[in-house]
Amino acid sequence: MQSIGKMMERPLLISAILEHSADQFGQQIIVSRETHGPLHRYTFADMAKRARQLANTLSSLGLKAGSVVGSIAWNNYRHLESYYAVSGSGMVMHTCNPRLHPDQLAYIINHADDEVVLFDSTFAPLIKAIAPHCLKVKHWICLSDKTNTPAVEGIDVKNIDDLIAPHSQSFHWPDLDEKSGAALCYTSGTTGNPKGVLYSHRAIALSALSTCLPNVLSISSQEAVLPVVPMFHINAWCLPYATLMAGAKLVLPGPKLDGASLYDLMESEKVTISAGVPTIWMGLIQHLEQNNLKFSTMRRTGVGGSAMPRALIAKFNDVYNVDVRHGWGMTETTAIATMSNLSDSEMEWPTDKRHELVAKQGKSVFGVELKIIDEDGNSLPRDGVAQGELMVRGQWIVEKYHKADKTALVDGWFPTGDIATISPDGVMQIRDRTKDVIKSGGEWISSIDLENAAVAHPDVAMAAVIGVKHPKWDERPLLLIVPKPEKSLEKQQVIDFLSERVAKWWVPDEVIFVQSLPVGGTGKVQKGDLRLKYGSIFTD
Ligand code: ADP
Repeated sequence: MQSIGKMMERPLLISAILEHSADQFGQQIIVSRETHGPLHRYTFADMAKRARQLANTLSSLGLKAGSVVGSIAWNNYRHLESYYAVSGSGMVMHTCNPRLHPDQLAYIINHADDEVVLFDSTFAPLIKAIAPHCLKVKHWICLSDKTNTPAVEGIDVKNIDDLIAPHSQSFHWPDLDEKSGAALCYTSGTTGNPKGVLYSHRAIALSALSTCLPNVLSISSQEAVLPVVPMFHINAWCLPYATLMAGAKLVLPGPKLDGASLYDLMESEKVTISAGVPTIWMGLIQHLEQNNLKFSTMRRTGVGGSAMPRALIAKFNDVYNVDVRHGWGMTETTAIATMSNLSDSEMEWPTDKRHELVAKQGKSVFGVELKIIDEDGNSLPRDGVAQGELMVRGQWIVEKYHKADKTALVDGWFPTGDIATISPDGVMQIRDRTKDVIKSGGEWISSIDLENAAVAHPDVAMAAVIGVKHPKWDERPLLLIVPKPEKSLEKQQVIDFLSERVAKWWVPDEVIFVQSLPVGGTGKVQKGDLRLKYGSIFTD
């Protein structure tokens, strides 16, 4: 018979992260760029006081454990306080992506049963548009200072600072079951309505702990962390929890995510770690190049959400001396599930080989297991060659979508919709998403590999590849290119450049130059929009 360990059963709770941060790192700083006014600066201890005031406020409004509080907000300090006050009280923090279509936004607010919506003043027009369709919402609360709290026709907007002011700075956090719901995030809904993922306290605490590990983002009290990845999507990869756990300085960028604004904040606040999607880093590097700038303190950046091109990894490493940690995850995995990093011996490899390894999505972090399967569900070998659908399981992977009747799992594993290879030593590489891979003449072409090859051209700022219906080959690749400012490129130059880098039959049939690409709320190119616009150019 198995013996039972004789250890305490203390739940892993988000309120414990807050109280730990205030007790152990009370004087650590949180800096926040606001939509209006100068940078806001206060300590972990101050933040905890306001979070407790907000917790008291929410209960005075009649909200109870299990109530859902929505937010439509940037990465800023009032949003951070809400993360802790709401989940800590046993309520569910439902972060909404403001760049969803208003109909979808109203859909998720209704589907989640939000009783309160917290919003930044920037989003007042959006609130006006959706409020008439969100009849379960009893309170609309603006997360700005009083002078910048807008009046919104048809609703009674309350100001957060006014609301919390009369309340006590102490709060008795409830002893919750660690399995209870803490935060809710919906997928982007590129196909059908968005689906909700309800994260438990346990999932978030474990994932945040994992994020701090040296092989993941290596967060400690010696670091200053700037999460560019939005708090409205996948918990900002758990950074609002991990930084407080680890006692790192937290720098919140608010609404200004352009290269110049991010660079200024990184320099003035001596940021050492950042995290975001590749499109953000492209803007930042362009700013550095155009103005001949260098980083003084930045040493590491986490990147994911879409594939980080090798050319950009090389730039960060070799020109700017910043270590790139390329990871993979999705709404359904709470935060980071795999991470590329180099072992001692790999650090000695030639530069190109190192970049090639970092361009892969890396090894699963402890707690996450991966496998790949073929169309019949059979496991494929971990040989770095066989490619199949990536399946994932672990303590912080979704089991069932919010309010769904059926499990989302197949034989205990979550099907990701990504196509990947896994090498014998566990390094996973995303080859494509099942819906983006190009099926040409019965063979597969990876849109990610083609995009990577295209952005290696010195005059290319961004590239996207889609599969377009073709009368002979079923599908053929179409390449869209945004040239760098003041650079012009000819189609043949691009074709010649790619011909040296990819198999001949992979070379796109058409290259179209555009001024910009449609980028969605999470910084990813919207390939669905491109398919709608260009989907028939080989058949018309
Ligand atoms: P969506 O992109 O549909 O909004 P998510 O934000 O949850 O959904 O993104 C998850 C998807 O993003 C993954 O399934 C994968 O296709 C893609 N992704 C995430 N990280 C990477 C990466 N490092 N490289 C390539 N693709 C990635």
